[in-house]
Amino acid sequence: MTTIDLRSDTVTMPTPAMRDAMFAAEVGDDVFGEDPTVNRLQEFAANYFGKEAALFCSSGTQTNQIAINVHVKPGGEVICHEDAHIYKYEGGGIAKNSGASVRLLRGNRGRITASEVAQWIMPDDVHFPVTQLVSLEDTANRGGGAVYDFEEIKRIKQLCEQHQLPLHLDGARLFNALAVNGVDPKTYAAQFDSISICLSKGLGAPVGSLLLGTNAFIHHARRVRKAMGGGMRQAGFLAAAGLYALENNVQRLSIDHDHAKQLETALNACSWVDHCLGVETNIVVIVLKNADQRDAYIQRLAEKGIKTVAFGPGMIRMVTHLGIDQAAIDYVKQTVHELV
Ligand SMILES: *Cc1c(COP(=O)(O)O)cnc(C)c1O
Repeated sequence: MTTIDLRSDTVTMPTPAMRDAMFAAEVGDDVFGEDPTVNRLQEFAANYFGKEAALFCSSGTQTNQIAINVHVKPGGEVICHEDAHIYKYEGGGIAKNSGASVRLLRGNRGRITASEVAQWIMPDDVHFPVTQLVSLEDTANRGGGAVYDFEEIKRIKQLCEQHQLPLHLDGARLFNALAVNGVDPKTYAAQFDSISICLSKGLGAPVGSLLLGTNAFIHHARRVRKAMGGGMRQAGFLAAAGLYALENNVQRLSIDHDHAKQLETALNACSWVDHCLGVETNIVVIVLKNADQRDAYIQRLAEKGIKTVAFGPGMIRMVTHLGIDQAAIDYVKQTVHELV
């Protein structure tokens, strides 16, 4: 039985062409700033988003945590959605690494609005933590891959500017968002003081994330990365995969989105599915009619060779990616239809 792994878009394997690029990479000691492939990747990404500089890091958790550490001081406060990855899935890193508190907003499908943020920017009063950062996630993972309305992002940016607050983007799946909202990458990136993007999600690289910002910001971030043990030496082998991913795997994301839409349509017609969170990108969140049966359905899908993950009470997540082709989607559609 073949396995169709829909647990996450992190399960992709490097393709033969990506492996060739990695094998052939020119490398040097990146802690000395001498790895030509790392430097090329950083320049490519910075230019792509119209930012001054970029920093290659081991993971999206690392790029987010470095950014937070540069922006905030102990006792400060970060405003984000209550399901934000930076809060929920980074091992308590905000408290541990930066000694900051967090103001969690309810929002809608992982997204927050300018009017909600405005209520929680603290006035200058000794009782309150000092608000020091606002962080958004686009697409929003816990929102089932929901995409921000770019007009809302602009309103949040305006508010941040009024209060001299930096705005960070956890853009682990930013390329998925840009494929849908159609906004020019530079125009989009101009709204943020720092951006984290993942090369190891839908773009299909085995390892790596990039942090983007001004020269001064990245200079500081490089120091924080070293202190967190993230300085890598001949990292060009990994950067080559990231560069290959940026040059070859961005355009094809719309295929993943089409596959996810097909799954949504098929699932919505199943007797055991109550509904799916409206699919916008490559994430499908199934809300079951019978919440108690969640683990049983995950098990039954697994028995048919389809791997999925639990996504909270009564919910199962499927994620499409470059390892999933139309034949696999057809098989999943057929299989979920036969399940009762
Ligand atoms: C995957 C992900 C990250 C980073 O995760 P790593 O596994 O540390 O690379 C950050 N934010 C979101 C929304 C993610 O989905």
